[in-house]
Parts: sequence; C-alpha cells; structure tokens
Amino acid sequence: MPSVSLSMPVSIPESVGTESVGGVSDQAAGVEDAGLGLYVHWPFCISKCPYCDFNSHVRDSIDQERWGRALVNDLESALAAVSTDVLRPLLSIFFGGGTPSLMAPETVAAVLDVLSSRGLLNAQTEITLEANPSSADAERFAAYRDAGVNRLSIGVQALDNEALRFLGRAHDVDEALDALAAARATFSRVSFDLIYARTGQSPQAWRAELERVLALAPAHVSLYQLTIEHGTRFYEAQARGNLTVPGDDDAATMYEDTLLRCKEIKLAAYEVSNFARPGEECRHNLIYWRSGDWIGVGPGAHGRMGQGDGRVATRQWRSPEKWLDAVENTGTGFEASEVLDAPTRATEMLMMGLRLTEGVSAKRFERMVGETLQDTLIRDRLDDLVEGGFMEVSQHGVRTTRQGRNVLNTLVSQLLP
Ligand code: SF4
Repeated sequence: MPSVSLSMPVSIPESVGTESVGGVSDQAAGVEDAGLGLYVHWPFCISKCPYCDFNSHVRDSIDQERWGRALVNDLESALAAVSTDVLRPLLSIFFGGGTPSLMAPETVAAVLDVLSSRGLLNAQTEITLEANPSSADAERFAAYRDAGVNRLSIGVQALDNEALRFLGRAHDVDEALDALAAARATFSRVSFDLIYARTGQSPQAWRAELERVLALAPAHVSLYQLTIEHGTRFYEAQARGNLTVPGDDDAATMYEDTLLRCKEIKLAAYEVSNFARPGEECRHNLIYWRSGDWIGVGPGAHGRMGQGDGRVATRQWRSPEKWLDAVENTGTGFEASEVLDAPTRATEMLMMGLRLTEGVSAKRFERMVGETLQDTLIRDRLDDLVEGGFMEVSQHGVRTTRQGRNVLNTLVSQLLP
C-alpha cells in the first residue's frame, strides 16, 4: 500500500460535526444516544441446521410454562442490576434464537408486560421476533402481534427447494412464501433472510434467485454469504473433503451483484449484509453496530452497558439446562460480567461500527472510549487505507468503503496499536 502524508483531508478533521456525508443513516450516526435494547434468547429449534453455530438446541419436549417463568425472572433480575441513570425507554426488543416462533405467545406477552409496567415501552419501541417459515409457526403470528410484537424477521434462507434441503431446513419455498404473505398481512414491518454462495451455486444462479428475492419487494432483507463455522456439521464435511463452497472470486461476484441490484432498486446497503428502504433499518442491530446499550437475557445472551465512564459486558449461562437451573435456584441466569478496558472498547466499536455504511461517529467514539479517534488510530495506517480505497474520512468520523468492508478484520487490526 502506498504511503501518503498526514495532511488533510485524508486524516480525521480536528473538529467533527453531524453533517451528512451521504448514505441512508448518516444523520442517525450523529445522534448522541445509540439507544437501549433488550435481547431475549430462546434456545430451541425443531432440528439443527448443518451450518448453524448459534446457541440452538433440539429437545424432545419443552416445558413452556417453566421456560416462560424463568425468562421473566431472568429479565426482572437483569433490570434490577441496571443502574437507574442507564435505564430508559427501550428503543428495541429482539426475541432471537434458536427459533423464537416456537415460544408460547404468552411468554412474549409476559416479558412485554414486565417492561410495560416499568414504563420501558413506548410507541417507538421496535419489537422484533425471529420466525421460521413453517405453517405451524405462521399460525402463531397473530398471537405474537396481539402480545405486542411489531416486526417479524423470517428465516427464508433460499428460494430453491434443493438448496433448502442442502441447508437442512424444514420448510420448502411454497411454505416460505406463504409465511411471508401471512407475516405481511399481520405486521407492518417484515424482514427476511437468505443465504447465498452455497455449495454448487454459480453467480448466474444467485443472480436469478436474487431477482426472485427483489420481486418480493422487501422493505428490509438480510443477504448473508454462507460461512463454514467451526463446530458445525458443514465444518466436519468440509474437513473430510465432502463439501466445497464457491471460491473467493465467485463469492465476490455474487456480493457485487447483490450490491448493484439493491442499489438499482434503491434498497440501501446500510450494513455489510443488510439492505433496507429508508427508515426500515433494523433498530435493534443498529444498537449493536453503534455500540449502544443492551440487556441480554436467556441462555447465552450477552449484554453491554455504559457504567460511569466505562462499559460493562455481561453474559448469561450458555447451556439451556444450566441457565434454567441457575434462574430457578438463584433468581438469575447471570454468569459473569467484565469491565471493558479502553482498547477493548475501541476494538469493539470499530469492528461493529465499520460494518455500517455510515461508519463510526467520532463524537460517540470519544465518549465511549475516552480518547479521540485521532489519538487512537494509527494515523499513517489510516492514511494508507484511505489512499488504497479501503476507508473514508467524513465530517462525522471514519467509515469503510465497499472494498474495506470485505477485509474488516485485517483493517481494524491495522488501525489499532
Ligand atoms: S433454525 Fe436457525 S437457530 Fe435453529 S438450527 Fe437452524 S439456523 Fe440455527
């Protein structure tokens, strides 16, 4: 990479503001408070997908009442542990998993009742539930809406029956389309996920599938590249030589095609894998990516919370049975917390914030880390990365280019001492 001078405008301006530099969420990047969220983890699925490394488990039977009680108790303990100056109306609540559409709607209602009784919900609170597109799950959509859910995120994953079988999914394309239609008839905000760069998929095949996706007129869609994660069945198959995925060039072509087509229809790529119409961005994920505060409850849930000038990370017991046991015996599923030091806060903030098209706000960085971006980043490296077309410096901070977002880990490791 060429070396360039530290002179402006390549380096970060000394004075930063909130002026827009383009992109859907630049204005939002200037907001002072990235918000408070709540994540609720439901750890069960009807089967384990071979690519999945989430904290998801298959059990013969689940005592819904017992699990519902435990989630409410874990939530009440977690709320009691949050200092009153941090507790404020929630920007977002996210029921994730696992498959939360296997939860009894009464559990969702009970969780929301706790929050409502404490004045933590308002008309703006985004309340998302992740759903599998099976017809059985779709039958519960109206009950989730009645409980208070106002946004549904559906794991469609592919619009190709052979690919769905390959991904180990229990639904087919028709079922997914029916579930999507039912979700749209029930909720004003609906998102769905797909996985591309699958075994045997050519860029041409993805282009055709992408057209079918876009013909569904999504207001928000998540398009993830298949990654083979350690500890999954796909990982073992790949290690044995029984599974291959498209090469880097084909995967890059698929990503470029995705960006191009979404741009053409004005579906903004506000994050590496997430696309939305203006105002339809997932507020919950924005809390993570902007390093806001969130409470995590349920097995394996993580939280992050401002504490004085610092930041604390919390985690709940990961194993469902261990978590349940802890809640029933001690009133909380809390396992441990850790005060994050400034270098860790800086790394987290860059790793998360540089995924976003809007980038990292210099103001928020300084408040979060206790040092300015100018003092934290290695200036020569930043200049090199800007010169190389990987990063941009804006009025409000720094951000990655499309090229930079492809090599995020390397880029962050280069920027920090
Ligand atoms: S449904 Fe989702 S959480 Fe459950 S095993 Fe499949 S990918 Fe993992």
